[in-house]
Amino acid sequence: MGSTFSFYTYNQGPFEELEAFHEAYREEECFENGNDTYAGHLGILQEGLALQKQIFNSEEEARNFIEENHHKCNQAMAAPYKGKAYAYPKSYTDLIASRKKAENDFYATQAAIVQEIKAVKSKTISCKACRSVINRQFIADMYCPVCREKDVFFSKTHLKRLEAKSKKLRVFVQIAPPKKKELVDGIAYVVGGWCPT
Ligand SMILES: [Zn+2]
Repeated sequence: MGSTFSFYTYNQGPFEELEAFHEAYREEECFENGNDTYAGHLGILQEGLALQKQIFNSEEEARNFIEENHHKCNQAMAAPYKGKAYAYPKSYTDLIASRKKAENDFYATQAAIVQEIKAVKSKTISCKACRSVINRQFIADMYCPVCREKDVFFSKTHLKRLEAKSKKLRVFVQIAPPKKKELVDGIAYVVGGWCPT
């Protein structure tokens, strides 16, 4: 009962993408090389990855760290290092971040308006569309809980506020689909560990 050190490097994207990749990698290894306890590959280690906080200066440093610190009973380790990694151009990721912000703003405004409508003293409000008298506490979003008509409880001022946010959001509808990733200075990972044999 020994163990063999096994590792690979990953530079295709952020850690969340590596996690998904690693699970597929484990399955593939088990399929190709067997999944008994002493099959001697990363696929038989525990599910998941132990991400190291430290960012190493080179692939070699990252690999050495894992080799010296990993225990075969644990998940494989992922050690980030400064290297070359594939990433979307910053212009694109900035755009995605701005769209996310506009989206959050829109929903936050909508939620704030619903809260304002609920906070009014009179207990009920009537729907402009179906005339139902609704207890304000049952209003959860911009739709009438009875007829599902949109915006019926919103005043002109409310709608104006929401429209302003919606306008900012619509600017981003035209974002071009993800451009190809580029190889740039970034964070890559060594994934590895001691695998029982
Ligand atoms: Zn209604």
